Amino acid sequence: MALMRRTGDDKMAHLIDGKKWASKSRAETAQAVAALAQQGVIPGLTVVLVGDNPASKTYVRGKEKAATEVGIRSQVITLSEGTTQDALLSLVEQLNADQMVHGILVQLPLPAQISEQAVLAAIHPDKDVDGFHAQNAGALATGQPGFIPCTPLGVMKMLQYEGIQVAGMNAVVVGRSNIVGKPMAQLLLNANATVTICHSKTKDLADVTRRADLLVAAIGRGRYITRDMVKEGAIVIDVGMNRIDGKLCGDVDYESVSAVAASITPVPGGVGPMTIAMLLSNTVQAASLSAVR
Ligand code: NAP
Repeated sequence: MALMRRTGDDKMAHLIDGKKWASKSRAETAQAVAALAQQGVIPGLTVVLVGDNPASKTYVRGKEKAATEVGIRSQVITLSEGTTQDALLSLVEQLNADQMVHGILVQLPLPAQISEQAVLAAIHPDKDVDGFHAQNAGALATGQPGFIPCTPLGVMKMLQYEGIQVAGMNAVVVGRSNIVGKPMAQLLLNANATVTICHSKTKDLADVTRRADLLVAAIGRGRYITRDMVKEGAIVIDVGMNRIDGKLCGDVDYESVSAVAASITPVPGGVGPMTIAMLLSNTVQAASLSAVR
């Protein structure tokens, strides 16, 4: 019998099903909501949307629906594109003082006349369910309790559900934004991975990514990570959400990379659903904290 020669194309990576894991996480959150209800606390989430950005509207609708489904009292406040920074800051102050509101999320991006930094700094750190306030970023960096940004938290939760131990792994994070790349790297470091962060000035990116046991792509460039940039047997997490010819795709070239990776997240259906699930979980955490204060 002739021996079959195995090529890299013979196998496909295990698909990490973000929808399945997000559903599990939401079920856990729904249980926590029910337990809080026994104590007379109904978690409340307020999402503030400024302007008419169609993608933002879609995200906000998704968040509201998911929150309602697990029993969170959710409200969306929509402000016009021309809203001033002062008006938004005074709304945030009002929400900070409202005891029914446990979590506040101001959907980004904001119109040009409003400083995102000023708005994020105004949200009370105890209600900062997005984890973007400097106090929460500092808490993450110094290993103290606080809110963790939903996307990287969702990645960690998904790895945990998959039974993947990151301790000792060479982890490479491509992207260093405050909302994804940096907290992702910090979480992996806290979980004892050896972490490298890459960015647009990294020299020979492929040389670095090829050394990754765990590769996280948070770049914002469609199908940028190709097969030649990935080590055989690596775990590949694709955070990217891009459109090429109107079609949603990640930062990873799924088709070619899934022939070399051991496990990979798809787009859509990977990190995205976990991000929303973590927003719900953070909101319940905020409500629980308010219950013991
Ligand atoms: P961002 O703020 O634009 O940051 C992108 C990062 O990628 C930057 O650090 C940038 O480096 C780096 N980068 C850009 N081009 C590069 C290149 N050629 N080589 C290496 N690094 C490069 O984006 P973000 O907010 O972190 O989001 C990243 C992606 O994730 C986007 O597609 C976004 O839509 C998606 N996202 C998805 C979710 C979800 O729930 N699935 C949530 C948030 C974001 P510099 O710092 O040097 O500029």
